[in-house]
Amino acid sequence: MTDVAERAAAGFRTRYGEPPAGRWAAPGRVNLIGEHTDYNDGFVLPFALPLRTVAAAAGQDGARWTVWSELSDETVTFGADEVAEPGRVTGWGAYVAGVVWALRDAGHDVPGARLAIASDVPLGAGLSSSAALEAAVLTALVDLGGLDLPAERQPRLAQRAENVYVGAPTGIMDQSAAIRCRDGHALFLDCRTEEVEHIPFDLHAAGLAMLVVDSHAPHRHADGEYAARRRSCEAGAARLGVPALRDVGVDQLDTALARLDDPETRRRVRHVVTEDQRVLDTVALLRAGRVREIGPLLTASHVSMRDDFEITVPEIDTAVEAALAAGALGARMTGGGFGGCVLALVEADAAEAVADAVTAAYAEKGFPAPGHVTVLPAGGATRLD
Ligand code: ADP
Ligand code: MG
Repeated sequence: MTDVAERAAAGFRTRYGEPPAGRWAAPGRVNLIGEHTDYNDGFVLPFALPLRTVAAAAGQDGARWTVWSELSDETVTFGADEVAEPGRVTGWGAYVAGVVWALRDAGHDVPGARLAIASDVPLGAGLSSSAALEAAVLTALVDLGGLDLPAERQPRLAQRAENVYVGAPTGIMDQSAAIRCRDGHALFLDCRTEEVEHIPFDLHAAGLAMLVVDSHAPHRHADGEYAARRRSCEAGAARLGVPALRDVGVDQLDTALARLDDPETRRRVRHVVTEDQRVLDTVALLRAGRVREIGPLLTASHVSMRDDFEITVPEIDTAVEAALAAGALGARMTGGGFGGCVLALVEADAAEAVADAVTAAYAEKGFPAPGHVTVLPAGGATRLD
């Protein structure tokens, strides 16, 4: 397929009859480690993918916004009325209207604009196509309007677009990753303080790569199960008398677990507390340049999600087991669970063999074939031209 930036520009020219004033790209992301820690005020460690969403854009007079997406070959148009309050634009256009609404709500004078969107980020696979779309649109509008909104304040705004305008309850990770990630680095994010730190994660220099397997597993009951996990964590924190599970250190874990009578809550708490520690351990290894050694932490994270948090499904476990058996240094489900993607840390020259092994294991169990892509950590939202 043609390059995504080309497709966005071509879409713009076809739709609006002239070239765009510029193009802005924002990446999908995966979370290297730190699952279900975000709403427990803990730590996450996403990195940006080389898969991107591109917005080709130019200004237009008045408070009018027109956006076309290659995805459905549809155009959505809205004006000041539709962005006066959340909910007036629905469907995919809501992500774009939400960004305009959030900017205006924060007092910015948002320029009218025409946009054309193309994307290589698969939708709904857990790679955060929604944040990539928000970030591409947001950075385009900020630049077109010369708005005073530094990068560190942009994730919060994109998150508001998604939480309040679209109505999807997400944490700050996806938007932070889409906007703030750096090439060759992972983004260490403290979900309590929202402070970020760029952690060297140069897989290429280490002769490694990350295989991302799309499990193609249907998201079974994901929303209800997610809500139930959050409730368990809140109940655990309340019982332990802490503001959030982040406040339970791994050295106090045994004492804390002994105070919980419900075995299910105990397992949920154990996952969150040990997962926070695995993020810290991963960050420490990466800071020390010991990239290869993070493999066992990734696998331990998976085991914890499978056995304690109980959010994996057979397709996902099959992919992890097959990748490890084929020589991956570590493997885990990434994302909220009940489907989505698996990450496998592999020797760069073994990526295809590991992918083949996963495909073969799927075939043996009669699952529909998985998708896969090999990636290196990429940069966050940026203007292309
Ligand atoms: P994820 O972020 O994991 O991919 P979400 O359900 O959060 O899944 O977001 C997917 C939604 O975002 C899509 O259903 C669509 O409404 C919107 N979206 C994302 N990328 C695009 C795009 N390139 N064009 C149009 N809509 C998009
Ligand atoms: Mg999303």
